[in-house]
Amino acid sequence: MNAPFLPYGRHWVADEDINAVNDVLRGDWLTTGPAVDALEAELEKVAGAPAVTVSSGTAALHAAYGGLGLGPGDEVITTPMTFIATASAAAMLGAKVHFADISEDTANIDPGAVDALLSPRTAVVAGVDYAGHPIDADALLPLCDKVGALLVEDAAHSIGGTYKGRPVGSLADITTFSFFPTKNLTSGEGGAVVSPHADVLKEIRRFARIGRLADASEHRHQDEGPWWYEMPTFGINYRLPDILCALGLSQLQRLSSFVTRRSELVARYHELLADVPGLRLPTQRPEVDPAWHLFSVRVQGGRRKEVFEAMRAAGIGVQVNYIPVYWHPVFEDSGYQRGLCPVAEQYYAEQLSLPLFAAMTNADQDRVVETLRKILG
Ligand SMILES: *Cc1c(COP(=O)(O)O)cnc(C)c1O
Repeated sequence: MNAPFLPYGRHWVADEDINAVNDVLRGDWLTTGPAVDALEAELEKVAGAPAVTVSSGTAALHAAYGGLGLGPGDEVITTPMTFIATASAAAMLGAKVHFADISEDTANIDPGAVDALLSPRTAVVAGVDYAGHPIDADALLPLCDKVGALLVEDAAHSIGGTYKGRPVGSLADITTFSFFPTKNLTSGEGGAVVSPHADVLKEIRRFARIGRLADASEHRHQDEGPWWYEMPTFGINYRLPDILCALGLSQLQRLSSFVTRRSELVARYHELLADVPGLRLPTQRPEVDPAWHLFSVRVQGGRRKEVFEAMRAAGIGVQVNYIPVYWHPVFEDSGYQRGLCPVAEQYYAEQLSLPLFAAMTNADQDRVVETLRKILG
């Protein structure tokens, strides 16, 4: 009998999570209720800045850029080594996206490459905490300051991590999270935006709440009646319902145990794979304590495809994270060409994500390691 398929990532939903969701389903508020406020308050404790919950990580990025009023004439500098939403959510608003190459060690956006792309029109620099390793915020913030841009940190991989002892969420001007099931914690679908700038977060919240003013004292028309509400701008309904906030909140209580287990597995991968020929293991800079989302190895000697196929044939759900974003036809068709970011393209050519999730057992991991050893011999 074949061994069951081992996914590269998987949620871990426990009875307490299910009970939390059941309580909401039996209660008065399926959406816009107290579980939303509760999750936002707990996120602020973990992230070190106030939070707005939204319906996905993609929604978080769209609301962040939309709340900033990004549009035609604005430029965004971002990394190609990410899920497309980091770039596409800005492009959809009409901003021009520039791709900066990555640092070879972390696969995070390279501050030197960002510097070379800065212009007076740069409104946002958007980095990604690739695999859970925080961006070099202290190198990127002064670059943003040079042109009056804001630093956006796509932290879909890294909730629960720290940089120089400071939590992810308190490093950049705006930080976005995803609660998709493969991420470090889940609400099924979901996400959040956090920012230490109250004025910025207020605009982001309004964008994600259909453009509606939250504060009645700001209404232009004060005498219409008690039913009156106002939309001074357009927005989208990106609300995360109480049902999912309850799941996210329950999961958030378990985040530190998830992060610890992921770290154990990462340390164990390093031990077990250290001497495998033709494999480069991920590195960590001394100033960070990552919340590892991916275990990203590099397969050398042009053997990535062969290893990918052999692992999948053995029932092991390896992944490639990521296809350089501008290789997708939607960017290709607007003139972005291969060769733009050579370090990222080389990284992509070798990259393979091995299974990593909190509920993974040591036996699961041994199976991954043994299979990989057999292939690379
Ligand atoms: C998952 C992810 C997103 C999008 O999050 P969704 O919740 O799936 O919309 C954005 N950026 C990165 C880096 C991601 O990994």
